[in-house]
Amino acid sequence: MLIGGSVKTVVCPYCGFGCKLLVDPQTLIVKPYRGEPNRGRLCPKGLYAMEFALSKNRVKRPLKRNRNALKPITWGQAIEEISHKLLEIREVYGPDAVAFISSSKISNEENYLLQKIARLFGTNNIDNCARICHEASVHALKTTIGTGTQTNPYEDIENFGAILIWGYNPAETHPVIIHYIKKAKKRGAKIIVVDIRETITMNLADYKFVIKPGTDIVLANAIMNVIIREELYNEEFIKNRTTGFSEVRMAVMKYTPEYAEKVTGVPATLIQKAAREFALAGSGAIMWGMGVTQHVSGVENVLAIINIALLLGYIGNRGGLYPMRGQNNVQGAAYMGALSEFLPGYIPLEDEKFRKRVASLWGVENIPIERGLYLTEVWDAIERDDIKALYIIGENPAVSEANFGRVRKALRKLDLLIVQDLFITKTARYAHYILPASAFCEKDGSYMNSERRIQWSEKVLEPLNDSKPDWKILTMLGKGLGLPGFNYSSVEEITKEYFSLFPELEEKDIEDLKSENGIFLPRKRLHTWEFATPNGKARFIAVEQIPPWESTNGEYPFALTTVRLISHYNTGEMTLRSPSLTKLMGEPKILINAEDAKYLEIEDNDLVEIETRRGKIRMRAKIGKVARGVVAVPFHFKANKITNNALNKAGTPEFKFSAAKIRKPKSG
Ligand code: SF4
Repeated sequence: MLIGGSVKTVVCPYCGFGCKLLVDPQTLIVKPYRGEPNRGRLCPKGLYAMEFALSKNRVKRPLKRNRNALKPITWGQAIEEISHKLLEIREVYGPDAVAFISSSKISNEENYLLQKIARLFGTNNIDNCARICHEASVHALKTTIGTGTQTNPYEDIENFGAILIWGYNPAETHPVIIHYIKKAKKRGAKIIVVDIRETITMNLADYKFVIKPGTDIVLANAIMNVIIREELYNEEFIKNRTTGFSEVRMAVMKYTPEYAEKVTGVPATLIQKAAREFALAGSGAIMWGMGVTQHVSGVENVLAIINIALLLGYIGNRGGLYPMRGQNNVQGAAYMGALSEFLPGYIPLEDEKFRKRVASLWGVENIPIERGLYLTEVWDAIERDDIKALYIIGENPAVSEANFGRVRKALRKLDLLIVQDLFITKTARYAHYILPASAFCEKDGSYMNSERRIQWSEKVLEPLNDSKPDWKILTMLGKGLGLPGFNYSSVEEITKEYFSLFPELEEKDIEDLKSENGIFLPRKRLHTWEFATPNGKARFIAVEQIPPWESTNGEYPFALTTVRLISHYNTGEMTLRSPSLTKLMGEPKILINAEDAKYLEIEDNDLVEIETRRGKIRMRAKIGKVARGVVAVPFHFKANKITNNALNKAGTPEFKFSAAKIRKPKSG
């Protein structure tokens, strides 16, 4: 139902860049917001964002499984039965037999509430999909500079002298940020792009480095080798603001550009030239994405990249680290504590003072201290019978998790699966209860984008059918479970509660958050004069090359990697329900090098079969600019049937490297 009134400002429900949309509540026409961060721009996903929300396929009322059928029930019955069953499972098996998976698409308030429910219920089994994207960045950043986020705002990008873009294709994943990069280039910034295929972003590059998958550390160490040998590093910064330089200096000496050429495929002369130009630029941003983190060496890959920034003093005023976030509120979900090893604000569970502070705010003596399960560990825990019930909001692990066959098997085994979502996703098909959630435009709330800017999103429509905003459902659930402190009558009451946990927000109020520019948490620029480590200094950590989990061989000669496409988003549950976006979408195809295709007698658009040790899928082929021996598959729909679920230290699977074979199917 339309609510009328003036134009509403709404945060885009798709990527983590965080554009604001201006939505006319009468016509539902979307226009771009003129101010920060999108400056009058939107990509097609933002422009057509209202379409999926209005889909006829929305879940209309709470549903309960009765054998093979899903039957409508009332909200009262749903909450009562779910609460009763969760309490029963806790009584018999303990609180850690239940796991909660939050969503990177719901608001800060809603993420805050779900982690509050989990911890008051008695478990730290609360996680979100940050686990499968940038958790490796968080671990590496926390270890080296003391904070786990992007250090600088987007606006700084256009003023830096150089930009190093690594394993990240902003032109397709965060299309609006490309305008900041273009502006920097216009002002003379050198652009270096590192990827495993020739991406659209490389059209902007002064240096295009197409590397062999899994060789990132070798290239990063070779860049440092050049900078150190030629004494181009920032001696003063290293001396005053870092520790551990001598270990890194020693470690990178063997990673000569010539050695790196053999391993990565990038010519040594180009590595030397790019390293010099990056160092001599005087300031620089390093931006990275899943191409860096989704490896078994994900944490070490990020450490290697951070070392480059530390070597040159490119953090704070003269540079910035930009781990670019995927979903619109993945940064907020993590910051609000929907992670199994951190409380809100990335405060470790072991921090007794903060734990007590949280407990006292919530009206209890204490909260659990033991780390909970990572999202990626839940599936084996179900197999082991350690997890009996799973509560999932807005995530679709039956498609988004690596090697998803084992995830589906685990979902089938659960005693209780509750899915809170807009649609009957592939995951929801296994659910015992489905709770209809309202869409982004049917509720108020705050969201945190990749630059840590918290923005307020306004309600445009009344909730469709019998759906409810996630915060209302969670308030009902908290009460149903008998937990203290769930008497919220407005979303702002939850905002005020999370504000009270952050000292930086003490002086702020909700009106500041609702203002034109939102609020940066903890502040706009981090580490301008000291790092958040115990001694205030950043730590260099030397890293050596770590091979992928699987190696290619005669049987599986190709390295399979996953990529994203501009008109698609994650598992397609939103974008495929947008008629305008589906018109723009081509059929997802596997990208293969021309010489490999010729050898295998594959032509453009041929149907091919791709097989890994986990199974096979079929897809049409596209001959394109990818290195020999590498095939790139869009990750959105079925690729994860065959991707590798080996985890790195932060719990992220190696989506970016599976040994594979490819052939034309006999029947095709
Ligand atoms: Fe939405 Fe990202 Fe596109 Fe902006 S760039 S409109 S935030 S999907």
